[in-house]
Amino acid sequence: MGHDGAVLSRLLPALAALALAVLTAGCGGGPARDPAAEGSPERSASATPAASEAGGETFESDVELARSLGEDFWRRRFEADGLRYEPLRDFIAYQPLKGPACAGEPALPNNAFYCPEGHFVAFDERWMREMNDRLGDASIYLIILHEIGHAVQAQTMSDFRLNVERELQADCYAGGALGTLVSAGALNAEEGDEEELLINLASAGDPSDAWWRPDAHGTAGQRQQAFAGGYNQGVDSC
Ligand SMILES: [Zn+2]
Repeated sequence: MGHDGAVLSRLLPALAALALAVLTAGCGGGPARDPAAEGSPERSASATPAASEAGGETFESDVELARSLGEDFWRRRFEADGLRYEPLRDFIAYQPLKGPACAGEPALPNNAFYCPEGHFVAFDERWMREMNDRLGDASIYLIILHEIGHAVQAQTMSDFRLNVERELQADCYAGGALGTLVSAGALNAEEGDEEELLINLASAGDPSDAWWRPDAHGTAGQRQQAFAGGYNQGVDSC
């Protein structure tokens, strides 16, 4: 991902036609595991000497950009409906065993989560850096936009019978926000980003379609499909 620069929307056709790839891993509800990646795909080389100045050039700037662009997207979206988006109260990078508790539950290592009680997003920084190194910077956008999607759900009082529905909508929201940001030129998709996104989603899929489980997040295919649906059709389709 890069900031500024020409928009290269190769993601659209690729994401529209997916439903492949099956790896494994998990993500829990509450402060449990979120889009974790256990696969070990090679990071595809980002062939962009471009994407110059501010943002998207370092891990820190990608993290900050994902957060600010993601929240900005939702603020505008809420305003378009005459509503007010409540910004996150905090955005916390934590060390593996020193994360903030949420509703009495300790933060887990190798995870990112949204905490409704404190209205904050927190993530294990070392884990996120590893994902970035291993799977590319698209993973940062995916994880953070997914968690911001949970923050949006908290504000829209969305109610779900199944956890998997909540998680797939958060994936759809992440795709919708990212798709809009890319087509608006706020972010440019770089060579390899689409593969990164697909691999990330696949690697965070549930190992089986145990949709009834309280920690279900959807299979690799379901997660990719939810994300692609949002990416191609916007958050209103979620
Ligand atoms: Zn989630």
